[in-house]
Amino acid sequence: MTINRRKLLQVGLATSASALVGVSGFPGILRAAGKRVAVVGGGVGGATAAKYLRIFDPSIEVTLIEPSKEYYTCFMSNEVVGGMKDLNSIKFSYDKLAKRGVKLVHKMATAVDAAGKKVTVDGGETIAFDACIVAPGIALKYDSIAGYSEAASEKIPHAWKAGAQTALLRKQLEAMPDGGVFIIAAPADPFRCPPGPYERASLVANYFKQKKPKSKVLILDAKEEFAKKGLFTAGWKKLYGDMIEWVPASKEGKVKRVDVDKMTVYAGELEGEHKGAVINLIPQQSAGKIALDSGLANDKGWCPVNPSTFESSQQKGVYVIGDACIAAPMPKSGYAANSQAKVCAAAVAAALAGGSPPTPAYTNTCYSLVGPDYGISVAAVYKINEGKLEAVKGAGGLSPADAPDAVRKREVAYAHSWFTNIADDIFG
Ligand code: FAD
Repeated sequence: MTINRRKLLQVGLATSASALVGVSGFPGILRAAGKRVAVVGGGVGGATAAKYLRIFDPSIEVTLIEPSKEYYTCFMSNEVVGGMKDLNSIKFSYDKLAKRGVKLVHKMATAVDAAGKKVTVDGGETIAFDACIVAPGIALKYDSIAGYSEAASEKIPHAWKAGAQTALLRKQLEAMPDGGVFIIAAPADPFRCPPGPYERASLVANYFKQKKPKSKVLILDAKEEFAKKGLFTAGWKKLYGDMIEWVPASKEGKVKRVDVDKMTVYAGELEGEHKGAVINLIPQQSAGKIALDSGLANDKGWCPVNPSTFESSQQKGVYVIGDACIAAPMPKSGYAANSQAKVCAAAVAAALAGGSPPTPAYTNTCYSLVGPDYGISVAAVYKINEGKLEAVKGAGGLSPADAPDAVRKREVAYAHSWFTNIADDIFG
């Protein structure tokens, strides 16, 4: 399907405008004065929710609990890995949220008690709430690859949470001799950012093409298919020839084991041996640990929610947004987390004021860079139908397969402007 951008924009603007009318309509009449909302996790979902709660109803006391004083976005972190951007360009502070009246507690939450209406943080202090929004992102299941561990990630990074891990992977690629093999192990669905491993492969190949042309990128995959596969593989052929090799699960691609000292992974039923000069293991994932510990996750490790409000199906008065929740067909993306956060903030503000939540609509666009002048994207608008999230037919779609170079280049400009805008929407 070809994107009809004008149509998508019209739908997006119409839905966000109607959402805002619905949202700003009720607080003028009903306010939740003195009510307290605790937000656990100051990433994309949590920071957006905290900010929008204060916008929708400034009488709500919002406390954002997040251990770090700065946040590194995962989006654009592949450009840092590929040497196109500096780590500082993806770093954001909470100063502007504080100016909006969000109270910051830079500690780790250790328990969310829905019945007792309180969050406990490191050191034992508790924060009382009338409603709680939990947005802890993902936990990495290191044990999904035998021999891998958090300690091993200091030598073989995952770089699936941005910051120190991103810098480590970049440093290793810079130190790698020409002629080496860079191995990426991609996980099975569901996981954070479905096109992410393939964008990373692309931007590392771009770096190799310029600086280490005898090197190779080997993607060992636990799946048969991946997001935007046709667009990625066409772009790889055009830009990098045979520099990138992708091995699906059916061709022995699933990494089962790693020997960290030997810098070797073992994949498939036959445990085929692959030695890497640099290895990037992306393990299977679940909702962040606090969600598991607080009874918010199901037996698969993800959090079921009511898709109209993002209230947990398992703990009343607690809401889960972002990568941690089950929101398929929305992907686990930053744009999705940002979109869910606004709907959830509106629903929480309404509930605390004794009103009803506005009718939600959600958007998502995922840009991926195949090269510095070669961007591709997938976009969708979502609505609720009979209590379930579904993609609106005819809204969004994939970049055209036969797009001219100028369109690919324009998608890179769109990707960069999306980054500037969403970062400001979250932290500004
Ligand atoms: P996060 O942003 O990870 O935030 C979770 C926060 O919770 C963290 O700050 C963490 O410190 C905090 N936390 C965890 N546990 C606790 C606790 N117990 N107490 C207090 N705080 C806690 N998405 C896009 O839309 N577009 C892209 O182009 C894109 N590119 C990506 C590229 C890569 C390489 C990767 C890995 C991801 C990419 N994503 C992209 C996905 C996007 O980054 C995630 O979907 C998004 O960050 C999810 O937001 P979140 O709020 O659920 O989690």
